[in-house]
Amino acid sequence: MIKKGSSLKLPARLNPQYITLDITYRCPLACVFCFMGKSSTATKEGTEMTRAELGQLVDSLSGKPRKFYISGGEPLLRPDLPWLVKRIKDGGHYCRVITSLSYAPQTAIELLGVGLDELTVSIHGTPEIHDACVGRPGAFATIAAICADVNASRFRSLSRLVFWCTVNKANHSALYSVYKTLADLKPDAIAFHHLDYITAGDLAATTGIFREELGCAPNLKVSKEMAGGISAQRLYSQISKIKAEKDARVRFDMELSRNEMEKWYDPETALKKKGFCMSPWNGIWVDPAGNMISCQPLGHRLGNALSGGCLEAFNGSDYARFRKTLLRHSGFLPTCSRCGRTAYMSGRRDTSKRRTVSKNNNSGQIA
Ligand code: SF4
Repeated sequence: MIKKGSSLKLPARLNPQYITLDITYRCPLACVFCFMGKSSTATKEGTEMTRAELGQLVDSLSGKPRKFYISGGEPLLRPDLPWLVKRIKDGGHYCRVITSLSYAPQTAIELLGVGLDELTVSIHGTPEIHDACVGRPGAFATIAAICADVNASRFRSLSRLVFWCTVNKANHSALYSVYKTLADLKPDAIAFHHLDYITAGDLAATTGIFREELGCAPNLKVSKEMAGGISAQRLYSQISKIKAEKDARVRFDMELSRNEMEKWYDPETALKKKGFCMSPWNGIWVDPAGNMISCQPLGHRLGNALSGGCLEAFNGSDYARFRKTLLRHSGFLPTCSRCGRTAYMSGRRDTSKRRTVSKNNNSGQIA
């Protein structure tokens, strides 16, 4: 939080800490709640950066230690993933891989051997619930076996094992049992993510803003059906039970009051999130083809990471224009209202303080 009377000063030239590389949008699973389903760009098949291009990209960001998050799609589908993790680690950076372990799961052990800092596993339930969520019998058993191997690995003390669990129709009323099941697999942390989805009203409002201020339409789809069948009341009670365990490994992205949770899971209710998304100021997001995008699912293209330099594009006019649009709309676009990334990509910001856009500042500075 920003203290009363203080201001957030950003340097004239931005040098982001977080680099998210979506190295493929291919995935063997078809989770019904996957946020990729909301973005038109993410669902298109396309070319993927070659190993040489990924190396070039990592090297271009070598100016300071950064946090690289490798995601997808399913990143284990790329056979050069261990090579990429090693290249990132050789550059002195932090590296996390986010995976469902749905393809070549033993590669996860290889990743620990080349210095991976964090293995983040998408896991959404008890064995029955998880397998149903991802549409693959035996998927939970595979994860459990690999987690046992990770916990037995001689590299275990050097890397973190983290679980990401997305709240959805199938798991929300049994979330306490899900927590107990996941805790038995001995992770270092469990993050429960509230479901991301987009309402028709929020999409229409965001489309209007995009057309007027950015001269294009967003690559988004309405996905409010994902929230169907979720009882906020039952979910709140399950979350309260988990919190009563006082397990320091557990966190919720976002932290919602009962009232906020009821609004979050009611697509008919307008929701105005508290805070401020700092993602476009402190994070670069690159899609499999090398396009720099505002974030996923918004997927707004802001340059190319391979032609002309990643940091140059990040400090260029397209990013500045997008940041100023966010600032004009109090730090969130309407379709940001049910995006939980604010919590782990950006931190929450106190929006009660006065915020102005410097007309001369290319970065879209907050003052
Ligand atoms: S809250 Fe931030 S990360 Fe989420 S959609 Fe909006 S701009 Fe993107």
